[in-house]
Amino acid sequence: MLSDNIAVLFPGSGMLLVKQDPGNVTFPKNNHDHGRCIAVALDKAAAVCMDRGVRLTELRRRVLEIIWQNHKPLGAYSILEQLRQDGRAAAPPTVYRALEFLLEQGLVHRIASMNAFVGCSRPGHISDGQFLICRSCGSSTELNDGKLEKVITRNSGSLGFTVEHLTIEVSGLCPHCRRARGEPAQYSNCPVSGEDSSGTEPT
Ligand SMILES: [Zn+2]
Ligand SMILES: [Zn+2]
Repeated sequence: MLSDNIAVLFPGSGMLLVKQDPGNVTFPKNNHDHGRCIAVALDKAAAVCMDRGVRLTELRRRVLEIIWQNHKPLGAYSILEQLRQDGRAAAPPTVYRALEFLLEQGLVHRIASMNAFVGCSRPGHISDGQFLICRSCGSSTELNDGKLEKVITRNSGSLGFTVEHLTIEVSGLCPHCRRARGEPAQYSNCPVSGEDSSGTEPT
């Protein structure tokens, strides 16, 4: 049976075992059907916008599609570049306005440490997200762990601090890059390899 915990390493504070939202988190396999990720993301975005009575214009949709071209956070200038390759006379404010809309609707997240944007796989969730970002290939995935947020919110509250935005960006190596380096990618419940090796010490 697969464990539903995932080991998260925080520098200087050891390992924290947090409950994983089942069916939510995987590091995408290298050979996964990414066309499907894009199609699902665009469908969800259309549904979210229709629900809220906001317009997913053709440009906003295209920006979202560009961001979803893979699971790596993408900078605004790369987005602009690709819009221009589409033959659009796009200027930076065009991109920033579209990004602002997508952020407001929770369709993308901003990864501050990279000054880049990544598509949200669960648009509509309240939190600003928790991101595992591979320092080698740049691939990222989102945790969305409510328990972790509660702990931070509670501890902040006890200091008289009100949390307004809570984004956690964790840098490390993804299972693919670990494997490419000959390291066993088995320190967590790894949906990529399907191994259950929870309890194995991180190396
Ligand atoms: Zn994908
Ligand atoms: Zn990687």
